[in-house]
Amino acid sequence: MVDLNGWGINDVEGVYVVAEHQYGRLADVTPELIGIGRDLADEMKEPLTVLLLGHEVRHHAQLLIEHGADRVVVCDDPRLKHWVIEPYGRTIGAFCRREPPRSFLLGATTASNPLASWVAADLVTGLASVCTDLRISDVEYRRVMLSKQLLQKRPDFNAIYFSTIITPDFYPQMATARTGAFQAKPHEPGRKGEVVEIPAVFGPHDFDVEVVGIEVKPKHVDLKEAKAIVSFGMGIKNNPKPALRMVEELAAELEGGMVGATRAAVEHGYITHDHQVGLTGTVVRPAGYFAFGVKGAVQHIVGMMESKYVFAVNSDKGAPIVNYADDMLVGDLHEVLPELLEAVRAWKARHTGKAAAPAKAAPKAGAAAKG
Ligand code: FAD
Repeated sequence: MVDLNGWGINDVEGVYVVAEHQYGRLADVTPELIGIGRDLADEMKEPLTVLLLGHEVRHHAQLLIEHGADRVVVCDDPRLKHWVIEPYGRTIGAFCRREPPRSFLLGATTASNPLASWVAADLVTGLASVCTDLRISDVEYRRVMLSKQLLQKRPDFNAIYFSTIITPDFYPQMATARTGAFQAKPHEPGRKGEVVEIPAVFGPHDFDVEVVGIEVKPKHVDLKEAKAIVSFGMGIKNNPKPALRMVEELAAELEGGMVGATRAAVEHGYITHDHQVGLTGTVVRPAGYFAFGVKGAVQHIVGMMESKYVFAVNSDKGAPIVNYADDMLVGDLHEVLPELLEAVRAWKARHTGKAAAPAKAAPKAGAAAKG
């Protein structure tokens, strides 16, 4: 028999967010969580609290306030030096029992996913993982209108559909947020907030897992920093080597340009996973997204749909990417890429005054389907 926590709609208040940090710096997901947490808290007219656990971390508190927190609850303890689930979870659980929140968000990251599950189980509540959209709304449930319910949108059924989940019977309403899916608020230096210190709480087996060392694997690219992304998919397969080279060259020509890829292309071994865009890759929002031979599967689209401008080249005019492209060229990427590359180089040469090989005429293959 499960011992329910018994908290009802009137026993809970505010939004909690767990600040994730690694190697002394806040993880990228932390300001994103505070950004969406701020929106939810404002919608409910309730406070936003950030839980900051670790060792020698209290100096981050002011920065968290400047990103949008009303209050930072700090637990700074040498035994929390490493991000180990049980001691972190136990301390968070104990604090939530004292002051139960209405909504509770963590990052959908390797570090925070298991912590979120542990805390949800400890508090006997539900958890919607890898949410791409979070909102507050009144919901009619069993003929009763419930206020301030967390609508948790996430990809389901192999990411073919999106579900919106509510957990009206349980509080806190907990979710993990997809990295890159939410935007941080602008940093406000000098913003005022409250900082509260709490003690750590441990159980007898919380240190059964001992961290003996950490090896940091260098990340070669961080697509989130790209201003322009030249992505490719399995459309390159007929002649992959020159196509890949041209994709790389085109990315190098664009300011802040990086190479992206579909999961199929990554699984095929054309490029490493840190270049993958999408649900199981990186969520990106560059100024320009250039997709060559990318079908536009929903799992890819959720990773790039926030791009400001999307240009797609595909031999199939009915490829789903057409629905997300501002402009689409129907044609063979093996023909389009060299012409586009040359045109970009000629344009840059004209604007920087450097001589360049004359550009050929605009690509002849196919027709612009949109835009
Ligand atoms: P294809 O589906 O093979 O499409 C190739 C496209 O290239 C077609 O549209 C074709 O018309 C076009 N083409 C072919 N030849 C040419 C040519 N010569 N010139 C121009 N166009 C050409 N996918 C991701 O990308 N990112 C993810 O994070 C991701 N996560 C997933 C998570 C789950 C749980 C699942 C089930 C799937 C996930 N996928 C993801 C896979 C996704 O469903 C698709 O299978 C994948 O995105 C397809 O990749 P693609 O467009 O390269 O290949």
